[in-house]
Amino acid sequence: MKSHATQQRALTLRRRTALKIARSIMPCVDCGRRMGNDSHYDHLNPEQKLMSVMQMASKYGLAMILSEVSKCVIRCYECHKPVTARQRRERRHRDQLLQIVAEKLREQGFAF
Ligand SMILES: [Zn+2]
Repeated sequence: MKSHATQQRALTLRRRTALKIARSIMPCVDCGRRMGNDSHYDHLNPEQKLMSVMQMASKYGLAMILSEVSKCVIRCYECHKPVTARQRRERRHRDQLLQIVAEKLREQGFAF
């Protein structure tokens, strides 16, 4: 009889295989190329990201994996870079905006 660890490894491998095949079937959402291992599960909203979909294959059940996939699109590594840079810029921008709005509200006598 196979050990629990061996069974777990086989399960993880099958989940990862399914996730890899799905990733290679779907074209990049931006450029339309199918890049196989050079494509990523990219979270539409990084703030909702629990962890990378591929990492989840070894730690979580199918419901959790599907839930994480539902937050993603497939994006190739080349298209991924500018998107990540833009998301970082947007987060910094939003943080600054929030700070300035709070400051201006305080200047108008609002306390919070
Ligand atoms: Zn692309």
